[in-house]
Amino acid sequence: MSLVRKHVRQMHPYIPGEQPKERGLIKLNTNENPYPPAPKVLSAIKRAVDDRLRLYPDPRADKLREQLAGLHGVNPENLIIGNGSDELLGLAARAFVDPRGGCVQYFTPSYSLYPVLADIHDAKRNEVCLLDDFSLPAVAQLRKEKDWDFKAALTYVTTPNAPAGCGYTTAELDALCLAQKGVVVLDEAYVDFAEENAMDLASKHSHVLISRTFSKAYSLCFQRIGYFVGSRELITALDKIRDSYNVNGLGQVAAEAALESLPYYRSNFRKIIKLREKVGLFFAELGFETLPSQANFILTKPPRFSASTWLKKLRTQKILVRHFKGSHVKDYLRITIGSEKDMDVLLRAVRAILKS
Ligand SMILES: *Cc1c(COP(=O)(O)O)cnc(C)c1O
Repeated sequence: MSLVRKHVRQMHPYIPGEQPKERGLIKLNTNENPYPPAPKVLSAIKRAVDDRLRLYPDPRADKLREQLAGLHGVNPENLIIGNGSDELLGLAARAFVDPRGGCVQYFTPSYSLYPVLADIHDAKRNEVCLLDDFSLPAVAQLRKEKDWDFKAALTYVTTPNAPAGCGYTTAELDALCLAQKGVVVLDEAYVDFAEENAMDLASKHSHVLISRTFSKAYSLCFQRIGYFVGSRELITALDKIRDSYNVNGLGQVAAEAALESLPYYRSNFRKIIKLREKVGLFFAELGFETLPSQANFILTKPPRFSASTWLKKLRTQKILVRHFKGSHVKDYLRITIGSEKDMDVLLRAVRAILKS
């Protein structure tokens, strides 16, 4: 007899991108921001490191929720902060999906954590393919093809998509949300690099949650801060089941200070977007087929060698990129937009590999 529950024995855990121990690698594999946190953020964290570390942090992150409420034009009761948005995505399964019969639904490819969260919860999952260009099927088409579940207890949508990078319009997301009976989480982890965001849908629909994170756009992966915006009913449910001190104190301090430095971050977003477009053009000249991106990464189909061979060849040049084995994206590499210098080194390595 095993001591471990059957579904836990059988499930596959999430596989994070490599976080290398050796120094001097160019890390373009987990969509981290190449720019440091704003100077105010670093000084706020340093100022907070003293004997107060023995105290518990604010259990409800009141100050941060108030700042975010102001930013998004909602009330603090419409906000919950998480230990990264990953924590909140998991809480959503626990709060909204009855494992006896309830269903977790998402498109493929999208964030590869969703199936793991369904499995952890021992809930049924329903995966439906995006269209060939990774765009969202229209509601009429989903109705016709019948494999989409309009009554799924919980639907996750990554927007802009990861790993494809394409953006979805608020109008098409609105139409999908309108058609769903259960909760819809719009995972906007990369939205600061996009042309549109769907924040308004969190106020328009009581069954829609918007997920955001300080990790990618605000250079704070290390601090683990994410949040959901949504109706008081859904937020209250999530709030009931979270750990009482789920958000660490230095993370709260960091996120609060980040919100006081928005011009700094917005100028970084513009730099990353500009470089993303430039890299796409350079890659095209070298024979890479790059999909249009609204995120801080690109998905690109390399010439000559298979994507997994490219992954290895770049690794020997100390450049880390990401390759997913799923059938839709196995021919592609996902490459984070790093600093100008990182991308120069990448392009030089790519040229050298093509010449070899
Ligand atoms: C990175 C990522 C997240 C998780 O971010 P946290 O660091 O947990 O806040 C959520 N969704 C997508 C699509 C991501 O790529």
